[in-house]
Amino acid sequence: MKRDARTIVLTLLRCLKLQCPACGDDSVFVRPFNVKARCTACEVIFKREEGFFVGAIMANVVATEVMILIVYFSCLLFTNFDERITLTILFVVGVSCPLAFYHHSWSLWLGLDHLIEGLPRKEK
Ligand SMILES: [Zn+2]
Repeated sequence: MKRDARTIVLTLLRCLKLQCPACGDDSVFVRPFNVKARCTACEVIFKREEGFFVGAIMANVVATEVMILIVYFSCLLFTNFDERITLTILFVVGVSCPLAFYHHSWSLWLGLDHLIEGLPRKEK
C-alpha cells in the first residue's frame, strides 16, 4: 500500500469524519456505539478478531487522561475554584470524554491499521 503524506492525511481526515479509511464512501458505524461488519462500498472488513479494538479502547483511555490533566491544570492555573468544584468538573470530564471520543478512537484505530498493513477485504 502506498503511504505518502497525502495518503496519510486523507486517511486520517476520513477517520475524523468516521468514514471508511480505505475508500471514504461509507460510515464506520451502523448506529451509535456499533461498528459495521464491513464497508458496503469497498468491502474492507471493519469488525475483526476479538481483541482487535483493545488499541481503540487504550487510545480512548489515554485521550481521557490527557483531557483530565488539561482541565485539572487549567483549573489550578486560571481559576480559584474550590477543590469540590474542581473534582466535580473532573468527574464530569472523566465520564463524558470516553463517550465523546468513543467513535473517533475506534475510527482512528481502524485508520492506523489501514495505514500500517491495509484492512483485509471480504473473501468471496
Ligand atoms: Zn470502504
